[in-house]
Amino acid sequence: MVHIHDTHVLMVSLFYHGHINPMVRYAKLLTSRGIHVTIATTNHARDQILNGLAKQSDFIDFEFFDDGLDAELDREKNLGILLEEYLPRDGVKNLSNLIYALEGKGKKFECIIVNCFVPWVTNVAMMHNIPCAMLWVQSCATYGIYYHYFHQKLSQVFALNDPNHIFTIPGLPLLKAEDLPTFVLPSSPPHFLNVVMTTISILDRFQWIFGSSFCDIEETLVHSMMQFKPILPIGPLVSPYMLNVGEALEGEEENDLCLDWLDKQGASSVIYIALGSISIMSQSETEALAMALESDSNRRFLWVRKEGENGWGGKTGELPKGFLENTKDRGLIVPWCRQDKVLMHPAIKCFLTHCGWNSTLETISAGVPVIAYPDWTDQPTNAKLLVDVFKVGVRMKKIKDGELGRDEIERCIVEVTTGQRALAMKEQATKWKVAAKKATSSGGSSNMNIENFINAIRGKFV
Ligand code: UDP
Repeated sequence: MVHIHDTHVLMVSLFYHGHINPMVRYAKLLTSRGIHVTIATTNHARDQILNGLAKQSDFIDFEFFDDGLDAELDREKNLGILLEEYLPRDGVKNLSNLIYALEGKGKKFECIIVNCFVPWVTNVAMMHNIPCAMLWVQSCATYGIYYHYFHQKLSQVFALNDPNHIFTIPGLPLLKAEDLPTFVLPSSPPHFLNVVMTTISILDRFQWIFGSSFCDIEETLVHSMMQFKPILPIGPLVSPYMLNVGEALEGEEENDLCLDWLDKQGASSVIYIALGSISIMSQSETEALAMALESDSNRRFLWVRKEGENGWGGKTGELPKGFLENTKDRGLIVPWCRQDKVLMHPAIKCFLTHCGWNSTLETISAGVPVIAYPDWTDQPTNAKLLVDVFKVGVRMKKIKDGELGRDEIERCIVEVTTGQRALAMKEQATKWKVAAKKATSSGGSSNMNIENFINAIRGKFV
């Protein structure tokens, strides 16, 4: 019988913010129940982690291993070979050595939890005879889509180049190509899909698949996957602050420019605009949005604009001349904010979001309606969920040639803030906010899934 404080779990993730964050959140849920968690990622993320996340996580150890690629080489530019060549070869060796070293210090891991981007870790787990679990860090819907894509070879059946073709996935509404994760589209570079497909092809190696979602919002999909390979939602994996579970705010600053500014705005008066940690707005998108915001003097906004380039060479568009001056009394532009706190602020009316899965869970947990403006990867599917399944917003669409029209922005802002369906969307968002809290409370569906897992790795009920 393993004693409570001797139960160790190892988590392994790539260095992306959107991958590590949910792992850390899950780790915290486990440590609060007496499990010891070690999170291992590549050396490349060492500084970022030790300067940021680690400070906030007293009961979680961080460990690092070499990915095999030259330290000076750009990870984004070499992502294909990193994912498909270096990590499955050097990562396996180096992670395995790390586990030996940790075992030498007395850590015996009862389980390794990975996410879907590091399938090679299952080889390490087998070498060390450690059971594996996966945390699916996207929606359960994308889990279902990738599962059926792989098993039915849907790429052959699907007319992925036909924008009007209707795709049927068990447990989901009818989908068009614009609703699918971009990785399955012919226009996407193959390495992302290859990695996810490798993961799907070895699902049998995982004793548990956890979802960062919660059952109420994805019930039909979760049920439909029971007959294939079940997914157990344990979320929403958002900051504890959003679920009011009483934990102190992570990394709380004394003065917060955004929150101070929001304190001075009226209730439900501010449009919050943010595209996550990677996506940016081009010159024409920036101009169109700026014009839409400027056109109505009653429009208040908090706009997160990352300056400069993102890792893929895209460059944030410049604001039109005079915009800052003309809107200074009703708008605030910042390079980054504490999104969980912002979304929970009573001044927020709606969220113009790129529909990253973390942002999606956060807006649902805060009960804030959305203008969904997806960019790539799972974001189109999340937009479909937000608009047609959760019914908390509208989708902002590009016109031909990828341009975003000012009229379209105008239409969406009006629809979500004052339109005929605005109230219904807010009511629906509030309903999900309540359900999110319930799922994570004692006796709630997500809470039960975590308890069952802990009992299993502690050797009870297995
Ligand atoms: N975020 C934040 N401040 C910002 C923008 C984003 O704290 O100004 C956080 C946001 O709360 C979320 C994460 O960054 O937890 C972004 O993750 P998401 O999955 O939404 O998008 P990604 O960055 O992976 O595209």
